Amino acid sequence: MSAVEFGGRRRKILVPQPRSRFLLVTCPQCGQRQVVFSHATFPARCLSCGALLVQPTGGKAKILGKIERILG
Ligand SMILES: [Zn+2]
Repeated sequence: MSAVEFGGRRRKILVPQPRSRFLLVTCPQCGQRQVVFSHATFPARCLSCGALLVQPTGGKAKILGKIERILG
């Protein structure tokens, strides 16, 4: 199942994710890898350069870095 298959019939569906996850993200500024929480309620910053990596939105946090892996 991929986003492409959905493309013809439906537009992107926002499915609430009941389970929070830990994500391995790469800092867009310095490339430092860091584990962040997908439903963080507070901003997470890069430990190396201080760039904002996770921005809380009230639900699922917005991940500003590149997601490398989902750790579960
Ligand atoms: Zn950084």
